[in-house]
Amino acid sequence: MGTIDGLPPLREVIRTHDLVAKRQLGQNFLLDLNLTAKIARSAGDLSGCDVLEVGPGPGGLTRGLLAEGARRVLAVEKDARCLPALHEIAAAYPGRLEVLLGDALEVDALAHLTPPIKVVANLPYNVGTELLIRWLSPPVWPPYWSSLTLMFQKEVAERIVAKPKGDHYGRLALLAQWRCNAAIVMTLPPEAFTPAPKVHSAVVHLTALPEPRFPCDFGMLQRITAMAFNQRRKMLRSSLKGMGPGIEALLESVGIPPTARAEEISLELFCALARAVHAA
Ligand code: SAM
Repeated sequence: MGTIDGLPPLREVIRTHDLVAKRQLGQNFLLDLNLTAKIARSAGDLSGCDVLEVGPGPGGLTRGLLAEGARRVLAVEKDARCLPALHEIAAAYPGRLEVLLGDALEVDALAHLTPPIKVVANLPYNVGTELLIRWLSPPVWPPYWSSLTLMFQKEVAERIVAKPKGDHYGRLALLAQWRCNAAIVMTLPPEAFTPAPKVHSAVVHLTALPEPRFPCDFGMLQRITAMAFNQRRKMLRSSLKGMGPGIEALLESVGIPPTARAEEISLELFCALARAVHAA
């Protein structure tokens, strides 16, 4: 049966290049090109955009991104075994795919990209959260990317979009939602991947807001939320003791009961507290 791009089906690519999945590299491949095209579409209109893809593997999502019209794709892959398969894709889409061999935590992808830039990836589970935190904490805001469309384990995806009072609410939700709109746009069962992981997965789409939803100092917000959620079941007057003796009065000054717990407090109130502590 033909494929969307005339290249061989992914099962054949994997067989030809002997790409036996390595667990330590988080290799769970997507082999259905209709599904990878759907993930690419969930990133919005790609025409006129450069796309950064981390971990292309045998190239299923890469092919989806190119077929859906991405101007250029920069694919950063750590596993050299994937290069021949990726070079075949590059040949089928002349001038539109650049492959960088390296660790996404170390390479300077920005040097290879031209705005507008979108990030789309089926992330390796072992570095996914760290990459997300880096993308959400750039030295300047707005960041170089306009959106992130990322596959995570479902539990991590739920932490990113969580609201107060839920079990998943914590620092990741606050960091993500402070300067982004974040939503789960697709969930996938283990069988969608080869080999099948133990858990369900979900695609999260984040768009960068031009400025933070509520003003406050980023470092202060990070400090307060780290302390508050480190002991998430404790009352804030006790978990935030380290902020100084005046913390109880500052909590009250912004309308937070000192007996409340971190998981009950909205992003807006955390930002108000960060401003009050900063001013004090
Ligand atoms: N995008 C492919 C797909 O959807 O079928 C593969 C996704 S697989 C979950 C993760 C990919 O990330 C693997 O190809 C793996 O080799 C690669 N990878 C793992 N750690 C990496 C790192 N630190 N930097 C770049 N790529 C990495």
